[in-house]
Amino acid sequence: MGEVARTVIVRSARLSRKLFRVFAELEGMYRNMVEQLTMFAVRSNTTSFTRLKALKYRELRAPYPQLPSHYAYTACQDASTRAKSFLRLKKKSLTSREHPEIRSVSIWLDDHLWKLSSLTSVEVATHKGWVRVELEPHKQYWRYVNASWRVASEAKVKLDRKSRRLVIYLTFKKSVEAYEPRGFVAVDVNENHVAVLAGGSVYLFETGFRDIILGYYYRYRRKRVQEKYDKLYGANCRVKRSVFRKLKERRRKSDLKWKLANIIVRVAKEKQYAIVLEKLGKNPAKEMINHVRDDQLRHRIYQASFRGVQRTIEEKTREHGVPIVYVDPRNTSKLCPVHGAPIVYSNDSRIGRCSIGGELWHRDVVACVNLLVRARLGNGSHAPSLGGLGVDGSPVPLGSTAIHDPTPIPKSLWARWKPLDATNKHKSMRMNI
Ligand SMILES: [Zn+2]
Repeated sequence: MGEVARTVIVRSARLSRKLFRVFAELEGMYRNMVEQLTMFAVRSNTTSFTRLKALKYRELRAPYPQLPSHYAYTACQDASTRAKSFLRLKKKSLTSREHPEIRSVSIWLDDHLWKLSSLTSVEVATHKGWVRVELEPHKQYWRYVNASWRVASEAKVKLDRKSRRLVIYLTFKKSVEAYEPRGFVAVDVNENHVAVLAGGSVYLFETGFRDIILGYYYRYRRKRVQEKYDKLYGANCRVKRSVFRKLKERRRKSDLKWKLANIIVRVAKEKQYAIVLEKLGKNPAKEMINHVRDDQLRHRIYQASFRGVQRTIEEKTREHGVPIVYVDPRNTSKLCPVHGAPIVYSNDSRIGRCSIGGELWHRDVVACVNLLVRARLGNGSHAPSLGGLGVDGSPVPLGSTAIHDPTPIPKSLWARWKPLDATNKHKSMRMNI
């Protein structure tokens, strides 16, 4: 049993000048307390929250009698965190400063200092009493509210002076109970798709990562050109525009990654299966990016595609209590899972023939089946004899001419699946996976 937490950032509606001034004053007092406490903590090497509170509580309360007393607590927590991280840096000689610098402040709130008064507004305790602030909730916020998450008692508030709004950092929590897996969903991440073996069939989710990878490559080259150009002519707004475009692309891609992870994890959860992933090393060993000479770039591409997809899946599984099994990825698409013999692929074909049994295999099916077999062997739940081993316990037809065809699912289809709607709208679709 574990607990997962997610931070969701919500902005308030635009506040009146009068109301915003209250928060500006509150921030000022809070900042004073945190500055004073952090200095003291660092100077006296007192970083424990309880020690700080015991030593400084009275002193903190005296100048601000109207301020709710719990701000003294949260300021101590805030200062304790700041002092600890400063001393850590100091110890590693990563800072030359004598004192930590308190630059940006967000006001820490505990359960005595704020509450959700409705789903679209919060109340905050201030030196002027309880103040109600309307939120501007967004899709992600509703997603957490509607699902089985609960709002944690701690929150943080930052002031956005330009737009006269509060930026509220809410924490959503959920307890998750992991289950004993009854089977496995094998996931093989590829250049252009993610292959998923579940319930005896392999599904290919088209991802278009090749485009993303090439995009990275070309953008990198373009950047090199641009840097040269900027050195000659100085940076201009064209550069800024390209930075913006890059951010937008990144966001779109990570959205897709989350969607895919969601689909895979939900399937595993529904069946009470574990997810099998390749154990990826530190080095991008995949052949597909070997043509990229630059080490750093290769690393980035690797991170962005393979590692990125895996991380997203890992993150999602934690949320749903789905266990993960990691297996050795070596030769997963090269060896016949039944005969242990090399599979011969002619030319660029994705279909190969087993060099002993003569049966035909689709490359992605082989990879997934091998991941599954390795997971089962590692799991000890099956004898190490692979002859006639069925995927998910059912016998796989292994006629000498049969190809175990995967089912491709185009990006245009799955990318439109909405995580929560998927349950209703695409039920039949999801049941197949
Ligand atoms: Zn074979």
